Amino acid sequence: VREKSAWTSEKILTSTLKEVDIPNLTVDQYMFRNLDKWATKTAVICGHTNRQYTYEEVYKKSRIFAANLRRKFKIKDGDTVAILMPNAPEYPIITFGVLAAGGVVTTMNPVYTAYEIQRQILLSETTLIITNEDLVPTVKEALKLAEKDFPIISLNIKSNPEGTASFKELVEDDHVDTSILKEVNRQYDDVAFLPYSSGTTGLPKGVQLTNRNIIANCEQQNTDYRQYEYTTESHQDCSLVVLPMFHCYALSICMLHKMSVGLKLVTLPKFQPDMFLNSLLAHRFDLLYLAPPLVMFVGSYPQMTAKHLEKVRAVTSGAAPLPSADIQRLFEKAEREIQFCQGYGLTETSPLISLTPFGQKTYEDVGYLLPNMACRIVDEKMNNLGPDKVGELVVKGPNVMKGYLKNPKANSEVFVEGDWFRTGDLAKINEDGLITIADRLKELIKVKGYQVPPAELENVLKEHPAVLDAAVVGVPDQATGERPRGFVVLKPEAKANDKDIMEFVSKRVAPYKKINEITFLKEIPKNPSGKILRKSLKEQYCK
Ligand code: AMP
Repeated sequence: VREKSAWTSEKILTSTLKEVDIPNLTVDQYMFRNLDKWATKTAVICGHTNRQYTYEEVYKKSRIFAANLRRKFKIKDGDTVAILMPNAPEYPIITFGVLAAGGVVTTMNPVYTAYEIQRQILLSETTLIITNEDLVPTVKEALKLAEKDFPIISLNIKSNPEGTASFKELVEDDHVDTSILKEVNRQYDDVAFLPYSSGTTGLPKGVQLTNRNIIANCEQQNTDYRQYEYTTESHQDCSLVVLPMFHCYALSICMLHKMSVGLKLVTLPKFQPDMFLNSLLAHRFDLLYLAPPLVMFVGSYPQMTAKHLEKVRAVTSGAAPLPSADIQRLFEKAEREIQFCQGYGLTETSPLISLTPFGQKTYEDVGYLLPNMACRIVDEKMNNLGPDKVGELVVKGPNVMKGYLKNPKANSEVFVEGDWFRTGDLAKINEDGLITIADRLKELIKVKGYQVPPAELENVLKEHPAVLDAAVVGVPDQATGERPRGFVVLKPEAKANDKDIMEFVSKRVAPYKKINEITFLKEIPKNPSGKILRKSLKEQYCK
């Protein structure tokens, strides 16, 4: 039972949920600490091909893979290894293998272009990349652009592209001596994951998430707000992983947390309506983790019926704001009561900050703060505003990242007064501690829940030979939440039309970042220190 108010006299809100312990382990140790409870149960299965692994197989194969990474690929403690692939049942084996080998996992969006991959390779100091056979040509192009020549391991389920080592072969041999893993020396406070996020401003940055950050966020979900049921001899909840595992939401909540409690995961390599519907019928999910566009799909797709949702106990949405009309439509489709839960968080907070509890019937808010966390609502001068006032949400807790990789400037902007982390979101919190996200203060655009950093698109626009200056802002979009809109100043005498420029951008960025609308201006409005006045652009042109 919640206490009525968790606000302190200094107008700081603390979680009223019972504090959780954070075991002093690395993520790969933590994942398998209860292995004997569910060793023979299915851990992960591909909803498209039915390739599957039990918990014991995930454990063993990840250890064999780790030993091979150390011995054959000379991976050392702290080396960065990239994973670039669509969701696959091998994703967890690879992840735990890299961690057990002492490496740091950086995840990349499989729809990235070679330019985007190249950038992350260079920034993260990647020393090895693991991908699938379809993406090998793009990886090779990215390596060329980055002027790097490091090994490529490819899943090689269907074929063996030239110049790749086969993952399949690297995990096949049960007799591999894993004693080499004894030399791995990774601690609780060492970085385990390095996803990329643009944060409040600028280009994507490496978000250093430690073992402790991730384990904390797993434990913070094992509270009264728990959506899953414990795995027993006769029962195992089944959960869908259709959201992309490169993003912190699916990586941490859908994969790491759910495997830490022994659930059965069904991975889909991409969202495709028929594949999605078939998997709903075939696997009769207990839990669905979705993002707003998928909630909208479930509620409105004509072929979706109550039968597809027959066994679903709880649906969770997160990563972007969700219109309540879409939740109502989902309930109507189900023709019965389904628990609906909204989560809020950021890559930088591993990612969950708050969750709505079981049985809550209001849908506009993002619930209550997770245990072991504190937060404040502040004005521009960092004064605490207290309950019922809109201001920036600032948080503190064991799940808050160590910091951006090699970026003291960005770190000094987001960390204030010690370890308080600025989310860049505007929020309001009531007397009882219920959090509502009001708006985004930061410049980030979210398309279908994916990050589209304006600064990144502005840089691409400015690479066009005819473009002198550029700005990008997000405008509301019914289907995707938001979409980027470009503003361009051409060089004097330069001749280029919007089509040429949009095509130029399309070749360099992932499909969801494409710009479909450009307005030509004489100059980009900026403040005296050169900062783009995005608000004024939005007000003037995007009404
Ligand atoms: P990412 O790091 O990609 O997960 O993006 C984090 C940002 O997504 C947050 O700072 C919010 O702006 C937005 N976000 C995440 N969850 C929600 C939610 N439930 N409601 C509204 N915005 C959200």
